[in-house]
Amino acid sequence: MWEALIYSIVILIAAFIVWYYLRAGIQQSKSIEGKVKQAQEEGRFQPVSLHPHIDPNRCIGSGACIRACPEEDIIGLLDGRATLINASSCIGHGACFHSCPVDAISLRIGTEERGIDLPHVKPDYETNISGIYIAGELGGMGLIKNSADQGVQACTNAAAALPKEVACDLDLVIIGAGPAGIAAALRAKELGLNFKLLEQDSLGGTVFTYPREKVVMTQPMDLPLFGKLKFYNTNKEELLSTWSKLIEDHAIPLQEHSKVKAISEQGDYHFKLELASGESLECRSVIIAIGRRGSPRKLGVAGEESEKVAYRLLEPENIQNQKVLVVGGGDSAVEAALLLMNHNQVSISYRKAHFARIKKGNQIKLEEALASGKIKPLLETNLKAIEKEAVFLLDKEGQELRIDNQKVFIFAGGELPISFLQSAGITVEKTFGKTLKKH
Ligand SMILES: Cc1cc2nc3c(=O)[nH]c(=O)nc-3n(C[C@H](O)[C@H](O)[C@H](O)COP(=O)(O)OP(=O)(O)OC[C@H]3O[C@@H](n4cnc5c(N)ncnc54)[C@H](O)[C@@H]3O)c2cc1C
Ligand code: SF4
Repeated sequence: MWEALIYSIVILIAAFIVWYYLRAGIQQSKSIEGKVKQAQEEGRFQPVSLHPHIDPNRCIGSGACIRACPEEDIIGLLDGRATLINASSCIGHGACFHSCPVDAISLRIGTEERGIDLPHVKPDYETNISGIYIAGELGGMGLIKNSADQGVQACTNAAAALPKEVACDLDLVIIGAGPAGIAAALRAKELGLNFKLLEQDSLGGTVFTYPREKVVMTQPMDLPLFGKLKFYNTNKEELLSTWSKLIEDHAIPLQEHSKVKAISEQGDYHFKLELASGESLECRSVIIAIGRRGSPRKLGVAGEESEKVAYRLLEPENIQNQKVLVVGGGDSAVEAALLLMNHNQVSISYRKAHFARIKKGNQIKLEEALASGKIKPLLETNLKAIEKEAVFLLDKEGQELRIDNQKVFIFAGGELPISFLQSAGITVEKTFGKTLKKH
């Protein structure tokens, strides 16, 4: 009798546990299904660069990849198997790949449907043009350590290949001061080359744009003139201050706010670089370390070079009690306006009549902000000029509007680095789902 009772209780508990886990699994799948649908609608489902490829026949749904991934909602469990959600936000460091207990994940670049333009780079990082090298994320394999390693190797190879007979002002120009460009510059200094490091923006590359609180995961790396940089979990400030100190201590010829517009070949190992400032430089070799983010598109309006104009919003909490104009109608513009509206007077200028192509979540928040007057819409207007205390816009009738202003944020899209490479004669190929790392 007692035995039968205990038996029944054990069976009931076991049944409850099974039911509980099945229910939790179903609820989790439903939530992930919703997130996948939303990511598809908002264009975040398709990976843009290096990303995990999950073999559904191998996956056992252990969830190890989800726990390992430091980014949010890139992978989730759907019907007991891992699936991609916001794949376009994957930064490709492969923590998921290393964590999978059954080797169901490989790292791929591009997908079968969406190809990715990659420059053709030889194993020594030289392109099809002798004397022009590519290092870092632009070549397909990102991350801070990989990019820095490639910068060092590309510079070593470029220096070894320099012919003696070509007389030029400079041995080498390194374009881009992200992890790849900085490491290449330190190596160039170590080798005693006559070189310049040009950066369109500020030292640090993509790292400079990370949110302040972001945990940066990296691995120890060997930096010339420094030795082993032993960072694992660090932050942007620590990395930027280390790099700045190295640049200063070793008198690296860094030229910030110097965008390279074009590279042309003048002869064997003789290149001319044209800068946006109108300056030009001649050199015997070039390392292109410009990453894959491209350059913000400028509007070409009077006053655009002024200090009050910016093309991204890095620390919104530092902007308070200002009259701000945000220019643009995409997600970046709307998100910036939403972030600034509570502590500033914000207007948003867009050349079209509606904000049509933004994420659903942004659309809802924007409508609320417009209705409450927290953001002033200036639809069907074009920015004409920027002055110290005001901006001037043209409406659709061609009437000029003057608005008091202290800060302008322009989000007019970006120019991808691929056309820059092609115009220099560098071969670019479309890559469809190429596997870069397999267990
Ligand atoms: C949100 C986010 C989080 C990340 N987190 C991590 C992480 O935790 N750990 C990790 O290892 N990696 C992380 N990464 C990836 C890492 O930041 C990049 O792989 C790495 O910065 C690539 O280095 P790079 O030198 O090749 O290019 P970038 O860092 O992109 O630098 C390229 C530089 O070139 C400049 N440039 C571009 N065009 C020109 C031009 N025409 N003239 C002059 N200069 C030009 C740019 O302004 C930029 O400063 C993350 C990336 C993102 C987006
Ligand atoms: S590669 Fe990194 S960011 Fe991408 S899914 Fe794996 S762990 Fe997450």
